Amino acid sequence: MTDRIREFLRTRRPDGPCLVVDLDVVRDKFLSFAKAMPDTRVFYAVKANPAPEVLALLAELGSCFDTASVAEVRMALAAGATPDRISFGNTIKKERDIATAFELGVRLYAVDCEAEVEKIARVAPGARVFCRILSDGAGAEWPLSRKFGCEPAMAPRILEHAHRLGLEAYGVSFHVGSQQRNTGAWDAAVASAAGIFREMSDRGITLKMVNLGGGFPTRYLKNVPAVQAYAQAISDAILTHFGNQVPETIIEPGRGMVGSAGIIKAEVVLVSKKSDTDDVRWVYLDIGKFGGLAETMDEAIRYPIRTERDGDEMTPCVLAGPTCDSADVMYEKDPYFLPVSLEIGDEVLIEGTGAYTTTYSAVAFNGFEPLKSYVI
Ligand SMILES: *Cc1c(COP(=O)(O)O)cnc(C)c1O
Repeated sequence: MTDRIREFLRTRRPDGPCLVVDLDVVRDKFLSFAKAMPDTRVFYAVKANPAPEVLALLAELGSCFDTASVAEVRMALAAGATPDRISFGNTIKKERDIATAFELGVRLYAVDCEAEVEKIARVAPGARVFCRILSDGAGAEWPLSRKFGCEPAMAPRILEHAHRLGLEAYGVSFHVGSQQRNTGAWDAAVASAAGIFREMSDRGITLKMVNLGGGFPTRYLKNVPAVQAYAQAISDAILTHFGNQVPETIIEPGRGMVGSAGIIKAEVVLVSKKSDTDDVRWVYLDIGKFGGLAETMDEAIRYPIRTERDGDEMTPCVLAGPTCDSADVMYEKDPYFLPVSLEIGDEVLIEGTGAYTTTYSAVAFNGFEPLKSYVI
């Protein structure tokens, strides 16, 4: 909780659940990435929080942007980023969207198979492409599974295909899984990238860039290592696997840039029990999985929740949202401890919610409005 957010909530008293984002925290985070990794360009992952004020601040600070759709490309441009600071990092793109991005000036694209290379070669001639490789995401609280990337052994063939079709085979990317609390997670992927660089060099093609992806964490209930610790582990991995032929590097932080900048204010709608003998209480909030807390899916992300009654005796609670869908339960397998004195109408503050909340909120499921957001 920052003083600015506390003051905003005290004086403005916004009605209904809302997210409040403190731009000073975003600025500090950007500067800490820039300072810890001075030779690495930052491409902010727009999907984490595309609020125009957040994008404009980052553009002004010199950030580049990782986008996944034409709409996100346009948001980054509207925020003041020039097209040379925008990457189209989604490996799954319609050919006509690639064409539109190319017309808008975007020249950097992700691929993970030959069919995607062919689309880009047809409508974005001469563009730079990087090949995304699979990473197992071990140790991440929000792993990205096998949806994106190819086995490292396939990457040279894909990049050579790009080269033959007149594209610039530019580099390799990976994502070690979101909310990655293990700083050592980058090592194996950097080793694979170095192997691909060597293989391509044997084929007469010089790759230039390693895209180290996102994964940098936000502090929820557990402590997380500082940005400096990630920077050190990554720099060690590059030195180990690339020696003195240090490639150009970029990072794509999303959660790590904006997660801790936001707080959701919500309200207790109901407290009840399912039977007289139950010791677990049900606490229903006016926000749930469909109102912005989608990352509580499988109870993956556990947000810190503050109430005005913290300090009172605590009791296990199932925490649920307000909609008429039984999937709208945040924490049940692993109940959440909340004050026994918590009452209907109490305000709760959900911390670390600056990333992946507004963008995941439904438009009007059950008539509940999308999550409101204030950027201060
Ligand atoms: C979502 C995404 C990111 C951001 O990941 P975080 O874990 O939030 O930092 C970075 N790169 C790509 C390609 C992504 O899809």
